[in-house]
Amino acid sequence: RTGLVLENVTLTYPDGTSRLTAVDDVSLTVPPGSTTALLGPSGSGKSSLLAVAATLTVPDSGRVAVGGIEVVADGAALPPARCAELRRTRIGIVFQQHRLLPSLTALEQLTLVAHLQGGRPRDAEPRARAVLAAVGLEEVADRRPHALSGGQRQRVNIARALVNEPDVLLVDEPTSALDHERGEQVVELVTSLTRATGAATLLVSHDESTLGSVDAVARISGGRLLAEPAPTRPAQAR
Ligand code: ADP
Ligand code: ADP
Repeated sequence: RTGLVLENVTLTYPDGTSRLTAVDDVSLTVPPGSTTALLGPSGSGKSSLLAVAATLTVPDSGRVAVGGIEVVADGAALPPARCAELRRTRIGIVFQQHRLLPSLTALEQLTLVAHLQGGRPRDAEPRARAVLAAVGLEEVADRRPHALSGGQRQRVNIARALVNEPDVLLVDEPTSALDHERGEQVVELVTSLTRATGAATLLVSHDESTLGSVDAVARISGGRLLAEPAPTRPAQAR
């Protein structure tokens, strides 16, 4: 497992007769088991970079590797079907708005994902239960989303992205709808699950105050990384 590698990634969008550069020559490596926060104001390119890491968007240039698999390299990208397979098997994505299905219990949300990912059907539920336990939700396994608290729904949302034991976990702005304390707890949960599972996690945020538990912070502005990702605290204190 080699985590997430982004090298000299540039992404532009059509903008009238010219192009708008949303991501400008960004290089970023997230090692397995560690969490890097991508911190920047609205419009700075965070979602665009996340979409590149998620194999949802092909950059204009650069290199993208996920769990040792070259997604984009030397001007060529994996075909869409292979990218879709990578998203099922190697990448976990936590969307900002949870998309939990209202009619399914917490456990069923995860079992469904496990089924969709293939593998032996009889392994699906045990796997779902194990992930639910990892996020501390065994007791509410049989509740539907409306009967869960906001924080519990957020945890189901994160758990769902971990069912396939991803090499790379991508988390889109997990704290925006939460108060400060809850936001901090969600980031801490993501950081500790990342350590426990060995995923390489990139977490998008615009709120620095909730990022105390992450391993590194990469600041982005106008599509450019401002500096090398800085460790949040001395290595020996980890
Ligand atoms: P952030 O997630 O930090 O808010 P985005 O990656 O969404 O930033 O946007 C970066 C820049 O790219 C912004 O100027 C935004 O307007 C532009 N942009 C984002 N998505 C598109 C798109 N699909 N088409 C054209 N421009 C886009
Ligand atoms: P409820 O929304 O059922 O009242 P809470 O009181 O725990 O549950 O919600 C606290 C806050 O968290 C609310 O502002 C709500 O909008 C927000 N919230 C609820 N679910 C989520 C979620 N899955 N992700 C992010 N924020 C959420």
